[in-house]
Amino acid sequence: MNLKISNTLSKKKELFKPINSKNITMYACGPTVYDSPHVGNARSLVVFDLLFRILKKIYGDKNVTYVRNITDIDDKIIDIAKEKNLPINKITEEVTKQFHDACKNLNCLEPTVEPKATGHVNEMVKMTNSLIEKGFAYENDGHVYFSVSSFKDYGKLSNKNLDELKAGSRVEVSVHKKNPLDFVLWKPSQEKDPGWDSPWGRGRPGWHLECSVMSEKYLSKEFDIHGGGLDLVFPHHENEIAQSCSNNSTSKMANYWIHNGFLTMNKEKMSKSLGNIVSITDALKHYNGQVIRLALLSSHYKQPLDWNEKLLDQQKKTLDKWYSLYEENYDQKKIPNCFESLLDDLNTPEYISKLHELYNEAFNGDKDKKENFNYACRLIGLFNENKKSWENYKKKSVKISEKIIINKINERLEARKKGDFKLADKIRIELLNEGVLIEDKKDETSWKYK
Ligand code: AMP
Ligand code: ZN
Repeated sequence: MNLKISNTLSKKKELFKPINSKNITMYACGPTVYDSPHVGNARSLVVFDLLFRILKKIYGDKNVTYVRNITDIDDKIIDIAKEKNLPINKITEEVTKQFHDACKNLNCLEPTVEPKATGHVNEMVKMTNSLIEKGFAYENDGHVYFSVSSFKDYGKLSNKNLDELKAGSRVEVSVHKKNPLDFVLWKPSQEKDPGWDSPWGRGRPGWHLECSVMSEKYLSKEFDIHGGGLDLVFPHHENEIAQSCSNNSTSKMANYWIHNGFLTMNKEKMSKSLGNIVSITDALKHYNGQVIRLALLSSHYKQPLDWNEKLLDQQKKTLDKWYSLYEENYDQKKIPNCFESLLDDLNTPEYISKLHELYNEAFNGDKDKKENFNYACRLIGLFNENKKSWENYKKKSVKISEKIIINKINERLEARKKGDFKLADKIRIELLNEGVLIEDKKDETSWKYK
């Protein structure tokens, strides 16, 4: 099985060749735990979970190391703690818990390691020190900056030269910097803010440094895949490369850089700063985690995806149909042929359309076809709940009680007997809008949750 994947570094779709096929190494940037994760963050989460599952299928369950960090030191966390007048760890623990609940609901596998930035500050101080000693970084009044001009490949990942970067991006202005593009490795902390002792005084690390340190510690100086959302290409990933390659005298930090496109709302990126976010917790109040997962996989991971009710209702309908063929136990046999679509740069829209075909074949087909369909659904992380739990979810999303539903159905039957088909139809539509579907068969009327 050969995996082809789009590499931001080469700007090409490439054949994936691991450094060591007995240990595939992947790092994806995890959440900054300052506020409830939103469904835009969930897209990144689900895309890299899918890639993790695919790699495990190709190379073996135990042969893939997936690291996804938690950024629990950041100015945004400090600001929100001040705003809410709460201790920092109260915020980070609560948001981390929300994040873990979201991962579970979206049926994301646990990464092999989930390091927290706060557990690695000593290593960050060490790396900063080493970069200063090697002449790639400088200190100025308690601040330490990476000197971008010392790294000749700067801009290679984002495909920009230094002048373009200077002109086109919002770079933090500071009197302590020699060059506006230089970025912070270490900065001083005020007394009341979190800080650690260092040769440059009490302070805290920069965000980019966190990922360089944690990826090297748990993977290696050079590893296979580094991923994240498109917004991380510049400056975050560009800066990670500059730090790591300079410090380790390597030409590459990771061989494949993979970035997911944005989740949008009315075509605008979903982000906290634009205020157009839907938290995963809120989305889960209305939709089952599988519905959200399927929605996030419904377009190619590199393309933008617009979040709206129509998209979600469609996935709910699809899953409901598919659940009619759900099998709790099935023999895990040959990998379904449609897996080919996932090997081609994670082509999930094509895979999902093949799932529809498999469903049709299985509907009138034998046990083997049904099992094949069940296996294919599980390959992308669906059918993690049994049929009963799916039915319960549908029941929960209907606001009216069973007693009212039955009364309404009887009222409708009376109307039909009297020939008042207008009223009968009105009741049918009313129930449909509540999420209840009526089916008339010969002399019998049955109902089910939509
Ligand atoms: P953050 O917590 O903001 O550092 O983001 C965590 C991950 O979610 C990163 O990989 C981001 O690139 C990704 N992300 C944030 N917003 C979106 C969005 N609207 N669409 C897709 N991915 C996003
Ligand atoms: Zn990162």
